[in-house]
Amino acid sequence: MIYEVIVDISNGEVDRVFDYSSENVYPVGSRVKVPFGKTFTEGFIIGEKETTLVKTKDIVRAEDDFAAVKPELLELVKFLKRTQNLRLIDSLRLCVPSGLRGNAVKTLKKNFLTLAVAAEDAKSSLKANSVRQGEVIDRLTAGGEYESVLNKEYGASAVKSLIEKGFVKREQVALRRTPYSGLVAEKKEIKLTPDQQRAYEEINNTDKTALLHGVTGSGKTEIYMRLISDAIEKGRTAIMLVPEISLTPQMLMLFRSRFGDTVALLHSGMSDGERYDEWLRLHRGEAKVALGARSAIFAPLENVGVIIIDEEHDNSYVSESNPRFFTHDVAAFRASYNDAKLVLGSATPSLNTYKKALDGEYELIQLKNRVHDNALPDMDIIDMRREIRAGNNGMFSRLLLSELDGCMKRNEQAMIFINRRGYSSFLRCKACGYVPKCTDCEVSLTYHREDDRLKCHYCGKQFYNLDSCPICGNKHLTQGRIGTETVVEELQRLFPDVEVGRLDNDTVTAKDSAAKILGDFRNGKTRILVGTQMIVKGHDFKDVTLVGVLDADLSLYYADYRSNETTFQLITQVAGRAGRDALPGKVVIQTYNPNHYVFRFARAYDYEGFYEKEASVREATRFPPYSKIVRILVKSEDEEKALKGARECYNAVREIKTADKSLFRVQAMKAPVGRISNEYRFQVVCWVECEGEEKIIPLIYKEAEAVNKRGVVTFLEVNPTSMR
Ligand code: ADP
Ligand code: ZN
Repeated sequence: MIYEVIVDISNGEVDRVFDYSSENVYPVGSRVKVPFGKTFTEGFIIGEKETTLVKTKDIVRAEDDFAAVKPELLELVKFLKRTQNLRLIDSLRLCVPSGLRGNAVKTLKKNFLTLAVAAEDAKSSLKANSVRQGEVIDRLTAGGEYESVLNKEYGASAVKSLIEKGFVKREQVALRRTPYSGLVAEKKEIKLTPDQQRAYEEINNTDKTALLHGVTGSGKTEIYMRLISDAIEKGRTAIMLVPEISLTPQMLMLFRSRFGDTVALLHSGMSDGERYDEWLRLHRGEAKVALGARSAIFAPLENVGVIIIDEEHDNSYVSESNPRFFTHDVAAFRASYNDAKLVLGSATPSLNTYKKALDGEYELIQLKNRVHDNALPDMDIIDMRREIRAGNNGMFSRLLLSELDGCMKRNEQAMIFINRRGYSSFLRCKACGYVPKCTDCEVSLTYHREDDRLKCHYCGKQFYNLDSCPICGNKHLTQGRIGTETVVEELQRLFPDVEVGRLDNDTVTAKDSAAKILGDFRNGKTRILVGTQMIVKGHDFKDVTLVGVLDADLSLYYADYRSNETTFQLITQVAGRAGRDALPGKVVIQTYNPNHYVFRFARAYDYEGFYEKEASVREATRFPPYSKIVRILVKSEDEEKALKGARECYNAVREIKTADKSLFRVQAMKAPVGRISNEYRFQVVCWVECEGEEKIIPLIYKEAEAVNKRGVVTFLEVNPTSMR
């Protein structure tokens, strides 16, 4: 038989199918070892045929005793190649745990002992003084045990001697590495409210993709779990995606309490061994629910009955680096392949998704009230310019301060959200205006007080702090804006008796530290939690009654057409953390831009109003969802080469534009961050009509590919999530 093999080599040139021969039968999807050039390499069989015109070499062996990539995922990989120009090998790698490749991780095996003969027979033939051996036999009468446990309790010689006599049998069993094994909760029976019941039925009654648009705290998770248990009852499987599973241990607890061992967790924060074991349980059908972040959409499940994307608007569903895939598209492929239900859930759907719902492509299902009908928290928008005029130069407005005070006095909890991490976003010389920048990237450095260093948030480089300006020698360097650290310090000064927690990228470097910080807040050890984006998503803390947002407008200034949308989502989501249980909530938003419509609509929890306004702006300016934006990023360590590459791209794309009007606008420019990690960055941005997309985008891919050579790298993104 001839097998078509994709070799696992990281080199743009070899994403080609090679023919290999073998007398043996290997299922398609198997991982195999093959000769390649002068050496050997790993590869995946993606097809088979009777004959070939080329001279072939033999496959050396199969690496596993199963086909690692199942037929559905093989189809998916080919689909991604066809529609999104992803290299087959890059997508194939998403289908298997990294520990499988190169056989880096193995199943853990441990010796397990059981009785080989009847207990009485064994005991009657023991010598009278073999007390220990008798005890081991008594113990094993109740069931098997690991050899290491028995050795510790009864001594290795007694155990060994029983094995040698043939009374005890030794077997190797697989040991499971369980991520976050401490996270379990009691099972709670919950009856859907009439509103949830209606939404649940609407989801069941439609053949379309369902958009579950429910305000924060409306009980979407209960509906998801009901849909999943329905699927399992029918003998099918389920995929549940959440944006930040490592930050929401509650979700895992909830799922474990409901579905027990049938849940497998998949996300990048787990060790290679844990991922391997969880993946294998799904692959073998032992686990039926894959719960995880974006990458879990590639879970090796068969007969998927329901796929849920929670917080569907979240940016993490689009991978920023290679291979860049859209989770929604992959989910849609799998749903249609399996005839499964696809449910997108959010309190603030992306404009793109909501438009599809209004256009009738998706079924719109709404939950307008919180469970138990408690109100959404009151929101106040504070004009920080007025605070300054009134003589308040602090980081907290007078209202936020008095609310914090009341909240602490009532023994409740508060969350303070800030858009940035670090102590202050930059240093500046008061005399000459000099701002220290990274030597490799064109961005200002951030001061970190903990280690008194200046750090680049793009490449991670660190620099010593400055005590005077290197340009004019002035000793007065001011810290620009505030960051999470300053906020924590200020809060500790104001409320010396209250413990304050901090959650941002700098505090969650260790694997379980996020869980620890959140755990301390949950059990009331810390009463105020200060954080960045990380505290926004999906948390359900019952005693939080106050949420403060400092610098709410910061995300409005990003160089990105989606900044209004992002800001609206951010505010609505943070606000949703307050008053989720019996106690009413309060939200204070501080801004220098209080008249922006984002705040007006956010304050009224008026998603529809915001949508209409924002959609009309996008339509007038012809930005997505009323077009597709294709951005070609051209990078090189050599500025000349980068510029030349960008020019070539630009000219080629201009020709496409002349030939076909559905490519209606092209711009070439320096990327907003012109240099990162010593690479110069230029961009060519194309606007394409949605109708012409299928024809035009492959042509743009081809041009970008043509420039991708000799020290120049091009990276193409459709509707980029951030343009930096
Ligand atoms: P959402 O995901 O929509 O923000 P959640 O699913 O987190 O909302 O639900 C909010 C809270 O309401 C949770 O604490 C949840 O346990 C509770 N809850 C949800 N549905 C019910 C129900 N039918 N009966 C009682 N409590 C519920
Ligand atoms: Zn840098």
